[in-house]
Amino acid sequence: MAAPRESVGRTIPLARPDIGERELELVTQVLRSDVLAMGSFTERFEAGIAELAGRREGVACSSGTAGLHLGVRALGIVEGDEVLTTPFSFVASANCLLYERAVPRFVDIEEDSLGMDPDLLAAATGARTRAVLPVHVFGRPCKIEAINSFARQRGWSVIEDACEGLGSSVHGRPLGSFGDVAVFAFYPNKQITTGEGGMVVTDDPGLADTMRSLRNQGRDTDGTWLRHVRLGYNYRLDEMSAALGVAQVERLEELRRGRTRVAAAYEQALGGRNWLGLPRAGAGEDVDWFVYVVRLHPQIDRDTLVVRLAALGVPSRPYFAPIHLQPFYRSMFGFKPGDFPVTERVAASTLALPFSSRLSDDDVGHVAEVLIDAIDRPGRLGG
Ligand SMILES: *Cc1c(COP(=O)(O)O)cnc(C)c1O
Repeated sequence: MAAPRESVGRTIPLARPDIGERELELVTQVLRSDVLAMGSFTERFEAGIAELAGRREGVACSSGTAGLHLGVRALGIVEGDEVLTTPFSFVASANCLLYERAVPRFVDIEEDSLGMDPDLLAAATGARTRAVLPVHVFGRPCKIEAINSFARQRGWSVIEDACEGLGSSVHGRPLGSFGDVAVFAFYPNKQITTGEGGMVVTDDPGLADTMRSLRNQGRDTDGTWLRHVRLGYNYRLDEMSAALGVAQVERLEELRRGRTRVAAAYEQALGGRNWLGLPRAGAGEDVDWFVYVVRLHPQIDRDTLVVRLAALGVPSRPYFAPIHLQPFYRSMFGFKPGDFPVTERVAASTLALPFSSRLSDDDVGHVAEVLIDAIDRPGRLGG
């Protein structure tokens, strides 16, 4: 007798880090070494990420959010400066501007890449625009080349939020290689993880020095311990996290192959349905997916679907909730529904499915079956 689906008893996580023997080996090496902070693993990790992004300098820090804040500060963005950015992102990409009392000027996105629409930059430009902060969403490149050249022509800085973009490239150029600074993040759901952690990369040694000082309590780069030359923070990354990062960088290709396999299995199981849009790379792009986010037909009630899938043991999640509609952005800036229509339409239709390098083909098949069953029948959620 077939067991009812609820009792199958599998727990499929929405995301899952991929930690192997090499990670255990290197982290253990740190723990046995007595050097738990500011040691050689941090330097190795910085060099590894800088190389992946094709940059000269890497500055490891305690989170992607800390990295964005370091970039904003090092570039001299101050109170009242305006920065063009996207409302379809994780809240940190706009919060890093608020930390400095700069003003985010949101620019709506294009449906294809889900990044800022370069054609809308001119209309959003004001007398105090100083920089642009584009975000690569879900691992897919935004229109970074067009955004970059628009900003360069005006002498603006570019802060590239590549927190979801490690390992992806456009026209052969890695994400993270475009901005004056670019930021990666290593929370456990990202392409590689350090637990908590982030990295700013740049080609400018002066900016890198400033960010190293800022992350280390404003100490001078000569390292004099109790001399502080600027207001700084404790945004350092510890050595256990850095060792985890070094091992994950070594295994990046392997992890990526796993994600590519899972994305292909979803494509196979879910392709060709008119109520479902699957994530695709654009022309000239090579994408290492961070999450697997599908787009539902507008007539499907997404939030009901999330509850129904959860009851059947399949976690899923809307991705993202627009930043401008977050309660404190609404009260700070007076944003309201309708302000950024493409962002809002996309946000209402997205569904992140379970995704990680270690998800089995069998689990992908199960997720697909449950999803199809919940929607694709007369009288169900679909039309
Ligand atoms: C994950 C993420 C961040 C911040 O990362 P944390 O390490 O969690 O601080 C910033 N921007 C985007 C787009 C992200 O996905």
